[in-house]
Amino acid sequence: MTLFPELIKNVLGESIIGRAQKEGLISLRCYNIRDWSEDKHRKTDDTPFGGGMGMVMTCQPIFDCFDALHREIPEGSRSRVIYMSPKGRHFTHDVARELSAYDDLIFLCGHYEGVDQRVIDELVDDEISIGDYVVTGGEIPACIVIDATSRLIDGVLASEECHMDESVASGILEYPQYTKPRSFRGLDVPEVLLSGDHKKIARWRLEQAVAITKERRPDLLLMHPEFEELLKPREKKRRKKTEDKQ
Ligand code: SAM
Repeated sequence: MTLFPELIKNVLGESIIGRAQKEGLISLRCYNIRDWSEDKHRKTDDTPFGGGMGMVMTCQPIFDCFDALHREIPEGSRSRVIYMSPKGRHFTHDVARELSAYDDLIFLCGHYEGVDQRVIDELVDDEISIGDYVVTGGEIPACIVIDATSRLIDGVLASEECHMDESVASGILEYPQYTKPRSFRGLDVPEVLLSGDHKKIARWRLEQAVAITKERRPDLLLMHPEFEELLKPREKKRRKKTEDKQ
């Protein structure tokens, strides 16, 4: 439910999410809240009671829009109504995974000062924020949630490995990636990646992933000590070799 359906259709109509829609893996419908406005000028907002700056989105068009779309949701479908809001719980990979289990997700995108609180109290199950900052409308936040959630749906990505391996989803941040050519403007790809030794490559990637996570997101390593543990046997061996030499 949005005042700017084209914005959403344009963002999500391209690339992987666009293809997923064409292949019928996900389906996205945009409802223009303005189409349900009973106001003669199709107004969807008004000044706030109690005074103050800005405009607030009114109840009538949102309630009527919701009623219309709700009628289209099949009986027995697992659905959730989400208001995109800086006051909501933070959006994370775990929230995306949780949302990917629903059959139908209904997103309400606010604008101006947001929506009348009665809309939230009556229609909304969940409020989600994409971070501690304020953007001008809920459309881009909704696109982020829809994109991150859709890529967890079977078949949307080429293989399940793609998202299991990635930063955060795996538990820690991802190792650096390189592609052809081997040398570019005097910058060489790390030798180990050209060695063909898969054990060595896996070890190097793990070391790099742990190092970058330690530097940028030590909180993730605290939650997943198993990654550092994996590196320990080799460290012990190396230490013992140096001691033996001495
Ligand atoms: N007056 C509101 C407040 O202080 O909480 C902010 C309104 S904001 C300018 C307009 C709309 O953008 C919101 O209703 C919401 O739908 C969306 N929005 C803004 N920041 C967001 C965020 N961090 N996460 C999710 N949605 C956001």
